[in-house]
Amino acid sequence: MAKTYKHLETKLIHAGEPEPLIHGAVCIPIFQSAMFEYSGEESYEDLRYIRLNNTPNHIALHEKLAALENGEYALVTASGMAAISSSLLTILSSGDHFLAQDCLYGGTHDLITKDLPDYGISCDFIDGNDPGSWEYKLRSTTKAIYVETMTNPLLQVAHHKAVVEFARAHNLVSVIDNTFASPINFRPLDWGFDLSIHSCTKYLNGHSDIVAGTAIGRSDLIESIKRRVNHLGGSLDPHACFLLHRGIKTLAVRVKYQNQSALKIAQFLESHHAVASVNYPGLESHTQHHRASELFDGYSGMLSFELEGGLEAAEAFIQKTDLPIVAPSLGGIETLVTRPATTSHAGLSARERQRLGISDSLVRVSVGIEATEDIITDFGQALEGLESLS
Ligand SMILES: *Cc1c(COP(=O)(O)O)cnc(C)c1O
Repeated sequence: MAKTYKHLETKLIHAGEPEPLIHGAVCIPIFQSAMFEYSGEESYEDLRYIRLNNTPNHIALHEKLAALENGEYALVTASGMAAISSSLLTILSSGDHFLAQDCLYGGTHDLITKDLPDYGISCDFIDGNDPGSWEYKLRSTTKAIYVETMTNPLLQVAHHKAVVEFARAHNLVSVIDNTFASPINFRPLDWGFDLSIHSCTKYLNGHSDIVAGTAIGRSDLIESIKRRVNHLGGSLDPHACFLLHRGIKTLAVRVKYQNQSALKIAQFLESHHAVASVNYPGLESHTQHHRASELFDGYSGMLSFELEGGLEAAEAFIQKTDLPIVAPSLGGIETLVTRPATTSHAGLSARERQRLGISDSLVRVSVGIEATEDIITDFGQALEGLESLS
């Protein structure tokens, strides 16, 4: 029986660790071996082989990830998209239909609109804030409902309790992409979701040096997804497993700091006369602040804002900042800034972006673990004089 631990901070360090320690090594070694000696395994899935997701590095991560969100089982995958695509291709078959939130990660949106139709899987988009409108989109073939904990880049928080109730009432599998919250801020299975997915590329690894994903949930569901991943070939390499394993251990200290820092930066921006509006669920002014407070233990390190001076000011701001790196992606230890219209949401048409409220001048920040004051000082100098652009 694996040991169980009460608190998340302890699980991060000790859950899933080899027992006894391998040759006394405090850290699990990298098992860089494609195959392992035959030892009487009776099924193909049990043969020990990297692609079959069963090396010691995979097994340790599966246990650790499951423990973090109180799931029965977890599967680690070669990327967040590998976790999302194989989960959807497990839950849904040709002829099936599902509902998905209208503002999704760009790669997921493309998978749903451009790839899944080729497999006979159709989708209708729903407004996560308007549960009353969902029933009209149900069909006899509807099998699942798919949402994200917080939307990118506007940090909207859907009515997650209603999502779970709706899924139960209509016999749908409820799936949530919990990447933005990380297990520190939200644990979807505790609230009744069937499946929680992460891009571990972001907060879980936290060091911007690998891509990886995970799906966490009931054993039967994860076992089916694992079989699909085994056949589609989206397993994570042991070396990347090791890096993810190492990154996860510091998740709590990183994310709690990022929560605090992002709140202070959001408050600073909101009070600045060159800033028109700030999107951060931790601010009282955020439309779903109360919902976020009920569901989450922290509001994440992600925020976005509009400048009074529009696009010209946004570009000037990004150019004038010294500290952040201008790059897509998020959740790492370094602060990043982007204009989503040119990065994460460049795949959408200008009209789609407008419909979702993502203007060309919106600036998104992924807050790292630098000193909060240094970020605020840098943003302050970058904002100077920008109000005259409006
Ligand atoms: C980055 C991201 C993904 C995709 O993850 P990859 O690891 O890049 O494949 C999925 N969902 C969200 C919310 C993301 O931010």
